[in-house]
Amino acid sequence: MEVAQVLHMNGGDSKSSYANHSLLQRAVISTVKPIVEASIEELCSNLFPECLKIADLGCSSGPNTLLVVSDIINNIQNTFRKLDRPPPSLQAFLNDLPRNDFNTVFRLLPGFYKKLNEEHENKGSYFIAAMPGSYYGRLFPDNSLHFVHSSYALMWISEVPKGLVTEGGEGLNKGNIYIAKTSTPAVFHEYFEQFKRDFTVFLRSRAQELVPGGSMVLTTMGSIKSNDPHCIWEFVGSKLYDMVLDGLIEEEKLDTFNLPYYAPTMDEVKEVIEAEGSFTLQNLEVFRNDWDSYIKQTNSSFDKKSRAAILSTDIRAVGEPILASHFGEETMDDLFRRFEEDVLDHMEKENCQFINLVISLTKKC
Ligand code: SAH
Repeated sequence: MEVAQVLHMNGGDSKSSYANHSLLQRAVISTVKPIVEASIEELCSNLFPECLKIADLGCSSGPNTLLVVSDIINNIQNTFRKLDRPPPSLQAFLNDLPRNDFNTVFRLLPGFYKKLNEEHENKGSYFIAAMPGSYYGRLFPDNSLHFVHSSYALMWISEVPKGLVTEGGEGLNKGNIYIAKTSTPAVFHEYFEQFKRDFTVFLRSRAQELVPGGSMVLTTMGSIKSNDPHCIWEFVGSKLYDMVLDGLIEEEKLDTFNLPYYAPTMDEVKEVIEAEGSFTLQNLEVFRNDWDSYIKQTNSSFDKKSRAAILSTDIRAVGEPILASHFGEETMDDLFRRFEEDVLDHMEKENCQFINLVISLTKKC
């Protein structure tokens, strides 16, 4: 499976699109806002470029994409006002894999520029561009960026660890699609090694692209222990397993599929940052939310049934392209119907939380 070919969120703005189902990610962006603000303030107090260059890595396609840029622009404006200096012009690069629906974002740009020009004094000095490609490799010229942001993207690793399927074609992680209660230590080891390789390449690439003193705020899904079993993808895997038991999916098909996903612990993140060596870790925070708390926040009157339906559609918007590429589009309705039916019972029995890590880094001078 070539991850870059199959990993993307549901595009467009239809009922099942990521654009209409990214409230969880939006809630995370809003929680991390003060951390981004602090990082930008620090950056703008030390660097005074004529044009500030920023990048949002794994920007996807939908309202969150431009929300991040707009928040960063507001931060920069406020910081320069405090410093009593004229704000710089700004170039923002939106990055995602080439299959991302960039066109939907481009169509929002005229309205976005208009709003910026109404809200801010330095009209016409914002420039937004797309930079398709994998962040597990170089995307920008040497010393060309000042600030890098990424939210809810880095848990997608560059490939499914090769060792999860033997040369003879046997799956190591039988009955699961990610690290789960029944996974062996070998499965955990394969995943962690892949994460280490990927995150190292990520840091090394950004270290070349950022100017000295440039900074990054990265938010990713994390875990408490690497084999923490309560990942939402473990639950999706258990519903696929039910479909195997009902004879709807071949057992071997499930046994040989694994997600290119890894939720690291704080210690694992620190270990890779220290070993790579180009960045100073300014801050590493963890915050947790119940799987459905972002839905309750949006509307506290939603009952259990509606919350299950929303959670199911939201997870589908993220997982459908990659799951359908292996299990077939025709299995998706059944899979997510099962998810919807069982998820709240599961949440009552298990401690089901999203664990989020926020990593603030500065490139060493
Ligand atoms: N930041 C957005 C999107 C999160 S979804 C938000 O908060 O709403 C994660 C995005 O990361 C997806 O669009 C996916 O295509 C992208 N992604 C995953 N792996 C990537 C890679 N290696 N390079 C670039 N983008 C990647």
